[in-house]
Amino acid sequence: MITFSSVTKKFGSGVVALQDISFHIKSGELVVVHGPSGSGKTTLMNLLIKDLEPTSGEITYKNISLTEMPRKQIPQHRRKIGVVFQDYRLLPELNVWENIALPLSIIGKSNDEVESRVTDLLNLVSLTEKALLFPKQLSGGEAQKVSIARALATGPSLIFADEPTGNLDSKASLEIMRLLQQINDLGTTILLATHDLALLDALERERHLELEKGVLKRDSRPASPDKVVENHDHEDKKAEQKKVEKIKTEDKQKKRKAFGITLDLSFFKKKAIDKDEIEARMSEILDKKEVEQKKEKTETKKAKKEHGVEKKT
Ligand code: ADP
Ligand code: MG
Repeated sequence: MITFSSVTKKFGSGVVALQDISFHIKSGELVVVHGPSGSGKTTLMNLLIKDLEPTSGEITYKNISLTEMPRKQIPQHRRKIGVVFQDYRLLPELNVWENIALPLSIIGKSNDEVESRVTDLLNLVSLTEKALLFPKQLSGGEAQKVSIARALATGPSLIFADEPTGNLDSKASLEIMRLLQQINDLGTTILLATHDLALLDALERERHLELEKGVLKRDSRPASPDKVVENHDHEDKKAEQKKVEKIKTEDKQKKRKAFGITLDLSFFKKKAIDKDEIEARMSEILDKKEVEQKKEKTETKKAKKEHGVEKKT
């Protein structure tokens, strides 16, 4: 699914954040990337979502070279990767339900689809009862669960969690770990970056990539690259199907009613929040470039229209 081949990333400052890194990750794996602060974990993630370009070497995602990926395909690529951060990055004005619904709304899912998906995700992270609370009313562990649900919203095949337990106590950290393991069991590939040694004990049996000053010191269970593209796709599809089946609940409808959760068709309008503003801010977290492109398009359209009107008058 992911291949790094001799990847080096140097920053302008002269810092070599990653040096000649090679590894392969198969679909369905849970891989722990660890190493002290400054060892290159976040850089690795940023290369994967194409927020950074490698200085040399090649990265492929699902057998497609990221180096050769056209700019306009980047938003689509990023949507396949859910990112979870240490500081949750939830929008304070939106409640739990709305925070999870937001990425779905941005990519234009119908209200029915949004409702069904958010209900499933709340169920998965066991926060159905807190759906109408706001981020400041949640514990750190709960906030991180919401951010994980949001990362899963658009059905990515990969979750990258960058120090997801960095702000949590050990009990909440373990809960988040269990949730990530559960999500992995349901078929989503997970890359988990951490420098938390206590957490590493709990993840002893997982595959570990150990970074030290940008160098890959150890790969506890190296995987070989996928050979046949078709097989690989099939694997992905099977995993996806498994995921969908598992999170389907029989009494979904009943639960929804019991907690009074119904999707208001204009749930953004109801709150005096400017949807454009929220989208713009959310874009900083999710699909930066896509929203920018969308905006550009609307502006060009607008400009064209205005220009046309001017011509007529
Ligand atoms: P980690 O996530 O493991 O703490 P990072 O990937 O954030 O490590 O950083 C690795 C190294 O690259 C550090 O020395 C850091 O200072 C440097 N670095 C990261 N991002 C940048 C940047 N945008 N510009 C310059 N140096 C950077
Ligand atoms: Mg980091």
